[in-house]
Amino acid sequence: MIASAVRTLKNFAGGRWESSAGEPRQVTNPSTGEVIAQVPFATPAEVDKTVRAAHEAYLQWREVPVVDRVQVLYRYKALLEKHADEVARILSTENGKTLPDALMEVRRAIQMVEVACGMPTLMMGDSIENVSRGIDSQTIRQPLGVCAGITPFNFPAMVPMWMFPFAIACGNSFILKPSEKVPLTPERTAELLEEAGVPAGVYSVIHGGRETTDALMMHPLVRAVSFVGSSPVAKHVYETSAKAGKRVQALGGAKNHLVVMPDADLEKSVEAIMSSAFGAAGERCLAGSVLVPVGEVAEPLLAKLVAAANALQVGDSLAPGVGMGPLVTGEHRGKVAGYIEKGLAEGAKPLCDGRKSAGESEGFFLGPTIFDGVTPKMTIAREEIFGPVLSVIRVRTLDEAISLVNGSEFGNTTSIFTSDGKSARDYASRVECGMVGVNIGVAAPMAFFPFSGWKNSFFGDLHAHGKDAVAFYTEQKVIMTRWF
Ligand code: NAD
Repeated sequence: MIASAVRTLKNFAGGRWESSAGEPRQVTNPSTGEVIAQVPFATPAEVDKTVRAAHEAYLQWREVPVVDRVQVLYRYKALLEKHADEVARILSTENGKTLPDALMEVRRAIQMVEVACGMPTLMMGDSIENVSRGIDSQTIRQPLGVCAGITPFNFPAMVPMWMFPFAIACGNSFILKPSEKVPLTPERTAELLEEAGVPAGVYSVIHGGRETTDALMMHPLVRAVSFVGSSPVAKHVYETSAKAGKRVQALGGAKNHLVVMPDADLEKSVEAIMSSAFGAAGERCLAGSVLVPVGEVAEPLLAKLVAAANALQVGDSLAPGVGMGPLVTGEHRGKVAGYIEKGLAEGAKPLCDGRKSAGESEGFFLGPTIFDGVTPKMTIAREEIFGPVLSVIRVRTLDEAISLVNGSEFGNTTSIFTSDGKSARDYASRVECGMVGVNIGVAAPMAFFPFSGWKNSFFGDLHAHGKDAVAFYTEQKVIMTRWF
């Protein structure tokens, strides 16, 4: 179904909103299946023009004092606050996460801007007098030039803001290539940045898919590439960008384990596990995907969890009281349903099957699925599903749980639920994951810490946001001075 007045989006390049000659694709409302916009895929010539304009803008912007650069971000924060509900509504409509969840994402995005407002302090270098007799030494941080960001569908407000507020505050210009599945939120947040007074060309948004991304990564005037998305694409972006001589950070997919000890608080753990596994329909890179009950906790834990999953209200993401919205596209829904079939075929035991609670709607709904009797070799135990499917692998000891977690090719996040400090400390110390939660279902770092995936969940060395972002978006220079 196509809504009556479907408009085609424009690119924001060189400070202007311009139509693209690229092939348009459809953007859908996943709650209804309705087409709500068309998004053009920018051509390599349009990418080239955008990068050149961004480079010209950078040459001026880098000369603006950092204290003045951050004034744009202060105004941007105020505008984001003012329009938070409106942005969240757009986000929920195109992505399918519930409205309260979308609003929480917008709040997290605003926190990124707040932290980047501290750039006059964050960008400071070091200095020391008399490194040798009569010689002083200092380091300064300088911007790189044009930086590019390629972002996924699941956080269309927040993930771009892991990047551009920091990059711009450091004196770079920035080009965002958002996910073609959710281009309306990045469009609105770009309009607000324009209203905040960002100079023409300092921030650009170009839409597209692989060809657009490749043209950006290969462009000689692009100095740094930030990517967030699935691991195969993250690896491709990392390799291609590095080969083209770019600085690159590429955050990939995940398979996150939630370990529950026999001494855990069951009520609170179940609440956290439900939100981790089924919040945003499991479409979070920090979503719990494998539940690992240790010892005798399995039976009481699963009884409570299945009851909570059966009570979860699935429906239109904008409707009040809905606990879980649809998956982002019909294609993605089909992929997740395919994993449920695979789980059944490989012998896992469904305690609830989300295909049954999906209803008759045109939307891309799937209810929560919980599989018991999963073994580490099964596909559903190893691969990222990125949907509301939780696999249960029972173990006998904490050591066994740690070996299981460390056997995964991914290392984004993990959580332990326990009331024993020693178990929590051992777990946090020994697991090979970049982010660890203790009695927390989604251990998402705040804006001033780095987003620290390990293994196949991350390619690069400097992570997103926090102090890492400042290092990533600047070059250091050491200056030694002697006066005669
Ligand atoms: P995706 O990899 O399909 O797409 C991400 C971006 O890359 C999009 O902008 C897309 O247009 C572009 N792209 C897709 N294929 C490409 C190709 N072959 N070459 C160049 N560019 C390409 O990811 P998605 O489905 O949008 O998002 C979900 C994935 O993102 C999940 O795997 C999730 O775990 C991951 N993710 C990771 C983090 C993290 O911090 N590690 C955060 C959010 C999402």
